[in-house]
Amino acid sequence: MERKYKFVSNRVLKNKAEEEKGKMRVLVKAGTDVATVYYTCPECGFSERLDTGWERPFALRCSKCDFNMKLPKLKDEMKREKNKEKKKRREMA
Ligand SMILES: [Zn+2]
Repeated sequence: MERKYKFVSNRVLKNKAEEEKGKMRVLVKAGTDVATVYYTCPECGFSERLDTGWERPFALRCSKCDFNMKLPKLKDEMKREKNKEKKKRREMA
C-alpha cells in the first residue's frame, strides 16, 4: 500500500440539533502538516475544499456561518496512533 497520506478520515458531522447533516473528509499528506479538507457544513449546507494546518484535536469553522465543526475521534484511530508510538519507541531503544 502506498503511504501517501499519514491521516485520512471521513466523518459525518452533526448540527446543533444533533442531526447528521454534514460531513468532513480530511487528508494529511505524509511528511507535511497540511490538511486538505472537504466539508459540508451541517448547519447551513455550505461545502468547500480548503487547505489548512493540521493539528489535534482538529476543528474547523464554516466559512459561511462560522459553525465550529470538530473532527470526532474514533477509538480505533487512537489505538492505531498509540501503536505507532510504541513502535517508534521500540525502534529508538
Ligand atoms: Zn455553515
